[in-house]
Amino acid sequence: MQMMIRRAALEVLRGAGVFRLARDSRWRQHRLLILCYHGISQADEHEWRPRLFMPREILEERFRTLERGGYNVVGLGDALHRLHAGELPPRSVAITFDDGGYDFYARAYPELERFRFPVTVYQTTYYSDFQRPIFNLICSYMLWKRRGQILSQGQELGLPAAMDLRTEESRQQIVFTLVKRSEQDNLTGSQKDELASHLARLLDIDYEELARKRILQLMTPAEVAELAARGVDFQLHTHRHRTPKDESLFRKEIDDNRKWLEGVAGKPTQHFCYPAGDYDPQFLPWLRAEGVVSATTCDAGLAGAGSDPLLLPRFVDTTARSRVEFESWLTGVGDLLSFRKEASRHRMQLAGFPKRA
Ligand SMILES: [Zn+2]
Repeated sequence: MQMMIRRAALEVLRGAGVFRLARDSRWRQHRLLILCYHGISQADEHEWRPRLFMPREILEERFRTLERGGYNVVGLGDALHRLHAGELPPRSVAITFDDGGYDFYARAYPELERFRFPVTVYQTTYYSDFQRPIFNLICSYMLWKRRGQILSQGQELGLPAAMDLRTEESRQQIVFTLVKRSEQDNLTGSQKDELASHLARLLDIDYEELARKRILQLMTPAEVAELAARGVDFQLHTHRHRTPKDESLFRKEIDDNRKWLEGVAGKPTQHFCYPAGDYDPQFLPWLRAEGVVSATTCDAGLAGAGSDPLLLPRFVDTTARSRVEFESWLTGVGDLLSFRKEASRHRMQLAGFPKRA
């Protein structure tokens, strides 16, 4: 209901010319909207996680909106430099993608190339070397595929015999138990993959077919290298998609991620994105010590010259956003109306990506 009222109010504001006024204001001129995307569906992933995946058609519509509205899509590093120098072009936008899934290579990059938009990919790297589906995500996806059923062979996986797949909650509980078990048993990547394959057999799902389609897999080193050569900017997102609260472990995540990226993409890395949008004030000096010059969150907002460079807001665009809501953030109206808190709540839905590989 609240969402419907907000949408209707935004339509009225757009009709009254308020979007245009904000878009062309001095206030907006000195601000940068950093867009955040995650996955672009290869099949039905957006029906499973609408806040994590988006159909290619919606991405294309978003890009057309940027083009029609005369927005200047600027590369992230350049945009941040110009933001602080007071030299941003009008209607500035930067585009970022988190994680670096195979779907970025297959679905998102062709659209970016078509529109000639520069992009930064915050690449997590552990699963780039281990070319199998990401364990907790693929388990969740397969259970969702069999939603509505109750299975009885749970004990084969160390679960209660009855596996109730009828609600999101009960499916999540199964994933939680599997992840916890794999951590307690200190399972290797291959052993977790075998566990996921076993789950697939119980669910009567062809796991190898999913693996062949590269559903929920990351880009390979060769794909990252290819896109880097074509101008994609690859930046830091930790090696194992986690932010330990211990300084040496935290910095090892950055170092491993950086070594991998600089070796494969061949370019320096100095921009960072907090996995799952989780940040903590104690991370800031550690990031500075690592020579990181910018870090983005999933808190909604437009960045200004006064924003802390290590706590930059972004607008997380998802399937759940209406077109008018998307436009309200492009113009700055969404930020001015303090929809920030509401919009930031979306980030809570992103926690599905593993913090541990
Ligand atoms: Zn991520």
